[in-house]
Amino acid sequence: MNDQAVATFQQNLRGRLVRQTDADYDAVRALYNGMIDKRPRLIARAVDAADVITAVDFAREQGLLLAIRGGGHNGPGLGSCDDGLVIDLSMMKSVRVDPAKRTVRVEPGCTSADVDHATHAFGLAVPFGIVGSTGVAGLTLGGGTGYLTRKFGLTIDNLLEADVVLADGRFVTASSKENPDLFWALRGGGGNFGVVTSFLFQAHPVKMVFAGPIFWDAAKDGRTVMRAFRDFLPNAPEDLGTFVGLKTVPPTDPFPKEHWNKRACAVISCFNGSEAEGRKAMAPLLKDLPAPLFDWTGMMPMPAINGLFDPFFPKGLQWYWKGDFVKSLTDQTIDVHIAQAAQAPSPFCLMHLYPIDGAVRRVAKDATAWPTRDATYSMVIAGIDPDPNNADALKKWGRAYWKAVHPFNLEGAYVNFMMDDETEGRVQSSYGENYTRLAAIKAKYDPKNLFRVNQNIKPA
Ligand SMILES: Cc1cc2nc3c(=O)[nH]c(=O)nc-3n(C[C@H](O)[C@H](O)[C@H](O)COP(=O)(O)OP(=O)(O)OC[C@H]3O[C@@H](n4cnc5c(N)ncnc54)[C@H](O)[C@@H]3O)c2cc1C
Repeated sequence: MNDQAVATFQQNLRGRLVRQTDADYDAVRALYNGMIDKRPRLIARAVDAADVITAVDFAREQGLLLAIRGGGHNGPGLGSCDDGLVIDLSMMKSVRVDPAKRTVRVEPGCTSADVDHATHAFGLAVPFGIVGSTGVAGLTLGGGTGYLTRKFGLTIDNLLEADVVLADGRFVTASSKENPDLFWALRGGGGNFGVVTSFLFQAHPVKMVFAGPIFWDAAKDGRTVMRAFRDFLPNAPEDLGTFVGLKTVPPTDPFPKEHWNKRACAVISCFNGSEAEGRKAMAPLLKDLPAPLFDWTGMMPMPAINGLFDPFFPKGLQWYWKGDFVKSLTDQTIDVHIAQAAQAPSPFCLMHLYPIDGAVRRVAKDATAWPTRDATYSMVIAGIDPDPNNADALKKWGRAYWKAVHPFNLEGAYVNFMMDDETEGRVQSSYGENYTRLAAIKAKYDPKNLFRVNQNIKPA
């Protein structure tokens, strides 16, 4: 790669090419996870599909390692790479809502908060995750679980169409009618097949919700709450999006000072409807449970619950992730969870269990690349702390916790909840019976594995 080639590349871009010598290089390359420190050779800040085509062609022709960055939230930092080219899509943030069709066209630099903001004005929402700053692109391509999942399915179950720049620079649309094999693979197969430059989603009527967290003392009541949650869930209405977690009461306002640093068991919910209906939906869970430390459920706009945790998780914290799909949550596993969570080295650490049920189960296992629709939960263990000196302690805790609960779980995990220190076999296990088909589609669309900075599917 000579200077002339780089200069020509810059001329052909409408967006900016950031080099290692630029004053803002460190700011532009910084990822959400402060534990990851990658130094790309070049960062192309794409502003349209033409820029993406130019950048994909440049990487392929120059033999450069290529990473694609949407929201930059990925745990192992798969939105960046060392010494290669990053296509940074974060400038591509347009959202267009079609209220008549209840669809939303979204550019790949959007966070879920960006899309929530746009759809909320029309009384609509797309199922995304539980933190507003998460990138829509990576979340969608990996599957997408969140508050609206029990009722409306995974994010991919609401994807109608995607525009994609392929490894050879061609631009195609993938939908159930056009390139259906690619459309199948994009729905869960991650960034393995090309660069998505536009998503078209189905949205749903959601405006004000009855939502918020309820915290109990984990040492005293965690076991009772987790068992009750497990038993309540199969009969809970699907309008109630909810998950259970183990965490620590943050030692900060607005949390009551007398509970700071207490190990806690939390149920965090979002009911799409009125307060009266929401309370009725929660009543069978709460009726026999002990008094919580605090109950902060109430009416709020949908974007408020999606952004509720954002202030506690600013960019730059240290994150170490471990995931699993859970087959069934036994009494014995609950005890292991509570014992392991109690060892967390920082009050930021957490474990969440996101239900896999309702609308997710109504889609066939082979209808999209995302196969584990018969799990009961998607589990995430996240070691989190602001101090880089605690990185090793976070890893040690996350690995030990995972090792203790994994024997009770399924082999694979949600690919968006894995670091890059998993074995190659873990990615295969995560796709199960769908892996062979994914590998064949990879061979068709990206035979030389240009798109390999991801949870990689090897071309067959
Ligand atoms: C605080 C936090 C909360 C989270 N909560 C949830 C949640 O509630 N539900 C959930 O499902 N997940 C959740 N996640 C996980 C999240 O889905 C992943 O981190 C996801 O990778 C983020 O996408 P991104 O675009 O921000 O990531 P990036 O780091 O930009 O990219 C992630 C991967 O996607 C690929 N990619 C990104 N954009 C494109 C594109 N346009 N075309 C092709 N490939 C692309 C990249 O190459 C990379 O491999 C959360 C993560 C964090 C950090």
